[in-house]
Amino acid sequence: MKKIPFVTKEKVEEIVQSYPTPFHIYDEKGIRENAKAVQEAFAWNKGFKEYFAVKACPNPFLIQILHEHGAGCDCSSLTELMLSNALGIKGDDIMFSSNETPAEEYEYCAKVGGIINLDDITHIEFVEKILGKLPETMSCRYNPGGVFQMSNGIMDNPGDAKYGFTAKQLFEGYRILKEKGVKHFGLHAFLASNTVTNEYYPQLARQLFEVAVEVKERTGVELEFINLSGGVGIPYMPEQAGNDIRVIGEGVRQVYEEVLVPAGLGEVAIYTEMGRFMMGPYGALVTKAIHEKHTYKEYIGVDACAVNLMRPAMYGAYHHITVLGKEDAVCDHKYDVAGSLCENNDKFAIDRMLPEIEKGDYLVIHDTGAHGYAMGYNYNGKLKSAELLLKEDGSVQLIRRAETPQDYFATLDCFDIYGKL
Ligand SMILES: *Cc1c(COP(=O)(O)O)cnc(C)c1O
Repeated sequence: MKKIPFVTKEKVEEIVQSYPTPFHIYDEKGIRENAKAVQEAFAWNKGFKEYFAVKACPNPFLIQILHEHGAGCDCSSLTELMLSNALGIKGDDIMFSSNETPAEEYEYCAKVGGIINLDDITHIEFVEKILGKLPETMSCRYNPGGVFQMSNGIMDNPGDAKYGFTAKQLFEGYRILKEKGVKHFGLHAFLASNTVTNEYYPQLARQLFEVAVEVKERTGVELEFINLSGGVGIPYMPEQAGNDIRVIGEGVRQVYEEVLVPAGLGEVAIYTEMGRFMMGPYGALVTKAIHEKHTYKEYIGVDACAVNLMRPAMYGAYHHITVLGKEDAVCDHKYDVAGSLCENNDKFAIDRMLPEIEKGDYLVIHDTGAHGYAMGYNYNGKLKSAELLLKEDGSVQLIRRAETPQDYFATLDCFDIYGKL
């Protein structure tokens, strides 16, 4: 399917009058429509809740939009918990799915009433020691080991992942939690990332539902929620067909009827912690071509770099690129699209066929709404960009300003650079 940006050349030319490139821009309409579709897909489950994975896009304005469509927050750190709390998203609306968790983060989570999703059996004692007493609701993260396989092959490698309890630890863990007075229990697993197939959630659900039945039989613990976590992917490439969340929801429902209901577990709430699926396609990085270079290859130099979007440099990830105003031009030029870091992997595209690019052209790098801005860093002293929201009425709101040198030097107050300049 042809990837069409949600901003036009005209719109970008208008935006840059106020906010220069590079910037990340988000599409309110797309976010809302998708969030509604998620709620509808799981409406069959009374307790359904999506906990948005804050790490994917930690912007309060965007999280607020999702919250208006029923989402809570899945947090993994102190600052994510703080952000959630500041939005009034607290208590059962927070899922704290962290690992190797520092004591003060558990403390803060307990203070705001979030649900602790334990990553390891030894953390039962750790949390008890910090809080004095375990919370009434607790969840455990399961790692079945081995590989996670679907009809189209091996999807991921849980056996190599640092996360979660083994099956044996899981049964033991619930037994201990029950003994220590915990009253409400959940189960969680994240076994494959960026799955572009409608099969992943139903297959994961079957595995977790079967474990839930076994937990009940072995320990008497009746789970109240099962958290399918994240991992629902998006089609980064134009030739990929995206997931259909309605098919996914229906697939989970069928397994629920088949496995949980007959076992007397027909009240279990289904939770999700999607990040990429909720936000990925509804964000884009807009950057300007500022140089062209002809050496052993043809390069287009842009004003964004891996600091703004790390996935291509880090994973060799594909992000589609549209040259604004040349949407229908033939792609008869082969380019490397490069950022300015002193790192040869700072390339948004390698050997990419694109229309002829001239200096001053605006490029839209697609699908940066999740794990895009969020993974940003400051290598080479580069500053992070602004974030903008394209609202439903067509107006644009600044939802995070660009960093300035002052921000970059802020933690150097022991040196006082501005006093020396
Ligand atoms: C990263 C993460 C998510 C979100 O994953 P996506 O692939 O963005 O959906 C959810 N839960 C946990 C525990 C995570 O670490």
